[in-house]
Amino acid sequence: MYIGNHLSSSSGFEKMGEEALRLGANTFAFFTRNPRGGAAKEINPEDALRLRRLMEEHHFGKLVAHAPYTLNVCAEKENVKKFSRDVLADDLNRMEYLPGNYYNFHPGSHVGQGTEAAIPMIADAINCALKPEHNTVVLLETMAGKGSEVGRSFEELRAIIDMVELKDKIGVCFDTCHVWDGGYDIVGNLDGVLKEFDAVIGLDRLRAVHFNDSMNVCGSHKDRHQKIGDGEIGAEALKAVAKHPLLADKPFILETPNDDEGYAREIAMIKNWYTGGQKD
Ligand code: FE
Ligand code: FE
Ligand code: ZN
Repeated sequence: MYIGNHLSSSSGFEKMGEEALRLGANTFAFFTRNPRGGAAKEINPEDALRLRRLMEEHHFGKLVAHAPYTLNVCAEKENVKKFSRDVLADDLNRMEYLPGNYYNFHPGSHVGQGTEAAIPMIADAINCALKPEHNTVVLLETMAGKGSEVGRSFEELRAIIDMVELKDKIGVCFDTCHVWDGGYDIVGNLDGVLKEFDAVIGLDRLRAVHFNDSMNVCGSHKDRHQKIGDGEIGAEALKAVAKHPLLADKPFILETPNDDEGYAREIAMIKNWYTGGQKD
């Protein structure tokens, strides 16, 4: 299985790979630039190459890069929308230094314009940014449905995907906290939720998992992550997600409120679920 957490990209690519190894991880997520937005750091191609070698040597799973939170390609304000579209396009070009990985982003918030109006804007931003020569699969994250977030249901994600031209370069990142907060009961009926995902979107689109417990009950639309086992989803249900045959080969990214030591502990715990207590 592939498990890791969000790492800070400020010290460079290779350093993130080394940090992942220190934490016992074999994948990781990173923000392509400051999570609050702004200019991206210059990429050092040598550094990217060193990370690629490290990943190969240590059999890493695909990385799940994350767009800044401020990205909103369906914003009402024209300047925010333009900035977001530019960042998306620039990030996808930059991802070519690490070909073959994932780029995950929040579909956006429609801020009063309505989901119907927002969906074509999101698809258009992807269609303008994503080129046939790109070696990255763009992932739409399942959202908790806080405020006017788009992507709170599988149907909304499907509607975006339907309008994306490069169908082989679009997928979904399944965030366990968000899906649960969005009203999908992964505790009582995981198989049913995955069946619904398959019927609406298609499980072949499910490429990565954001692995979080939730502070709130199913359908709360709150989006507050909790440590694995300390929230309303609970360890048993999350274990069933991690071990589910339809999900087990995906990169699992922890976004739990932890320090490094906490992440190392969670990573070890999850690996242990997976090996059934047997050490390799
Ligand atoms: Fe996210
Ligand atoms: Fe997430
Ligand atoms: Zn979240």
